[in-house]
Amino acid sequence: MKRSTALLALSGAAFIYTTTAVRAPAIAMEGIQVGLTVGSMNRVSPVLAAERKQENFEPALVHADQQAEAVAKLKKLHERKGRPPNIIYLVVDDLGYGDVGAYGGGELLGAPTPNVDRLAREGLKLTSTYAQPTCSPTRAALMTGRLPVRSGLIRPSLLNDTSDVSSEILSARLLSQAGYRTALSGKWHLGEKESSRPWQVGYDEFEGFLGVVNAYQEEHPTDTDVSHDPELLAQLHSMPGSRDLWKATAKDGGKSLGKINWENSRDLDQKFAAFSEDFIRRAVRDGKPFFLNHNFSKVHYFNQPSKAFEARSATKDVYRDSVIEVDDIVGRLVRLLQELKIADNTLVVFTSDNGPEEDSYPESGFTPFRGSKGTTLEGGVRVPGIVWWPGMIKAGRVSDGMFDLMDLFNTSLAVAGVDPMQAVPKDRYVDGIDQTSFLLSDQGQSNREAVYFYNMDMLAGVRWRYYKMSTSEIQAGTGNVRDLGGLDNTQVIIPPNGFMYNLYIDPKERKSVMIEQAWVPSYATGPLLGVHGMTLRKYPPKVMIRVR
Ligand code: CA
Repeated sequence: MKRSTALLALSGAAFIYTTTAVRAPAIAMEGIQVGLTVGSMNRVSPVLAAERKQENFEPALVHADQQAEAVAKLKKLHERKGRPPNIIYLVVDDLGYGDVGAYGGGELLGAPTPNVDRLAREGLKLTSTYAQPTCSPTRAALMTGRLPVRSGLIRPSLLNDTSDVSSEILSARLLSQAGYRTALSGKWHLGEKESSRPWQVGYDEFEGFLGVVNAYQEEHPTDTDVSHDPELLAQLHSMPGSRDLWKATAKDGGKSLGKINWENSRDLDQKFAAFSEDFIRRAVRDGKPFFLNHNFSKVHYFNQPSKAFEARSATKDVYRDSVIEVDDIVGRLVRLLQELKIADNTLVVFTSDNGPEEDSYPESGFTPFRGSKGTTLEGGVRVPGIVWWPGMIKAGRVSDGMFDLMDLFNTSLAVAGVDPMQAVPKDRYVDGIDQTSFLLSDQGQSNREAVYFYNMDMLAGVRWRYYKMSTSEIQAGTGNVRDLGGLDNTQVIIPPNGFMYNLYIDPKERKSVMIEQAWVPSYATGPLLGVHGMTLRKYPPKVMIRVR
């Protein structure tokens, strides 16, 4: 098994090389190979600039000035506060890039998001934040700093699934070892297997569910084939698989607070908000730095706003009412940080785990891009990304620098004073990049030279600058509703030469410019894919890769 994985990874690298070599006679195999060793990527191609500092870490662009500025800012803060900063992620489920007011939605869609917009206004708004195409892969990448093919979580985890992250190293574990209180609130979705639960892999505390909310909502009124068949419903409920609302600590283990169902699922996010508030208060009371990974259940279908938020949106529909509820909770948590006077020592990140879910349309988010959840088109993977840290991040900054949610792994460790290159064993490859200086420097630029795209086990492309090369593409088309995507209604397209899009001129990825811009695959995206393939050869992933 191990051997075949390695062989496939090797053939993958060779394949990428073959397809790009046609257009890249200047880039020899040795050139690709040298990109794996410590040093600058300009040895592979003169247009590439990232530096590989350690063989098992993704190369990063070096901005010495902004790095010095960020280090000085952190040092000063540490001297003033006497402890490392707190870290909070606010991860919404299936929220569209365009749902947020600061990204063009909000009022436009009849669902204002003043609290999230405020974070953008007072912090850094990123316009090129990338997630994976679906829930579990994004969450795995965000928590491990590794692409889903490396950790094995390439698709959403289902009821009674065997997904397993127990051999992975989560940021929570490293932060916990560094003296942080760590908690995961809400959705986990990295598997419900014993030994792979949040309190067993690094989180000190957990209150939430292990899977995805719609798996627990079989009594949903539109699912009449189940909800009108009590016998079938009873059978389904007797099957293995965790439908529980869990409360757990690493010390005492987990206990169920009861089963989640359609009716009680409406209040889950209020429960998670209360848990997060309590966790923050306790950590502050005890004088401990904390890491809170707050994961909303909303706005994943089936949405049902809690009573106080019913009919709050202009159209009074469950999706947009739920967006308003999520925004309100963001406001609550941020206000608490200010009340406790810890806002200036807390890094807050707001994002979504993938693009809008169009299987459930019109209970679905909005994106200005083509594609939706489940695709590697921008609509599937480009998500809102707001970073707020009063006094540390200059208010009102906007950047199109590339930020992969995996970068939160390295960045969170770095701001906490943990060096990921020391903390992670050298037997595994880390795809995340430390973006601390990008976020903290007033004029910060992204340290990321490329973002790689995967459709489950298939390497689907790479973005470099504003060029995106797709070696495969998932398109809407097999469903009966025109242009809608989703997990059910899409198909994979394999273009013979790949597609190349200019994402500034053509953000909807409508016209390939592969031939017109032939230098890009020759000297940039081709070599990048080649080196990336070689990392898979050297560090065999847990999942075998299909290149096309
Ligand atoms: Ca999701």
